Amino acid sequence: MSIIKLHDKYFKSYISEKLIHEAIESLVKQVYKDCKNETPLFIGILNGCFMFVADFVREYNGDCEVSFVKLASYEGTKSTGKIKQLVGVNENLEGRTVVILEDIIDTGNTLQEIYEIFKDKKLKQLKIATLFFKPDVFKKELPIDYIGISIPDKFIVGYGLDYNGIGRNFASIYQLTKKPTMKNIVLFGPPGAGKGTQADL
Ligand code: 5GP
Ligand code: MG
Ligand code: MG
Repeated sequence: MSIIKLHDKYFKSYISEKLIHEAIESLVKQVYKDCKNETPLFIGILNGCFMFVADFVREYNGDCEVSFVKLASYEGTKSTGKIKQLVGVNENLEGRTVVILEDIIDTGNTLQEIYEIFKDKKLKQLKIATLFFKPDVFKKELPIDYIGISIPDKFIVGYGLDYNGIGRNFASIYQLTKKPTMKNIVLFGPPGAGKGTQADL
């Protein structure tokens, strides 16, 4: 197992690149099946979605459009509950099938905001796909159409997800952990660190 330190916190390797990509393949298959004969508009929710969207659309073997909105709800490792739409969509959405690509759904506050933003846009349909989902935290009555990997209520970083700005560049997922006792931990690794090769415990 490898451990990394980001700011003041320690994270252990948790979900491999291989598992992430298998989950994405499965999501793409389901979305593709539901979007036959359409050109869906995939909308990523920035910043955390950027790797997911890149891998998702490369796997998607059909016509599609790609756009992004930027929302904010987190500071540190706790949801602030306050959400602002920072960058909106410019495309004409009327009559379109829109598939939201979310990195992770936790409390569902962001998801609620997404439903608010899109409810007056006269879409043909709105579908939600999330790579990660925390079922123990999610308390909303809102539909989530496609779920990649369900995880427990523990903070994760990597594959686009940050802890106070850093950690997004890791190719795999790390989970918040206690400060390790061993002394020989490489806190931030050499080239290849992004693949989670920093330290073996
Ligand atoms: P929600 O609004 O559902 O509580 O949270 C959605 C957003 O909070 C995500 O898009 C993500 O930016 C952030 N978030 C939620 N859980 C985690 C987590 O475990 N790790 C990180 N890095 N961000 C998270
Ligand atoms: Mg997000
Ligand atoms: Mg964040």
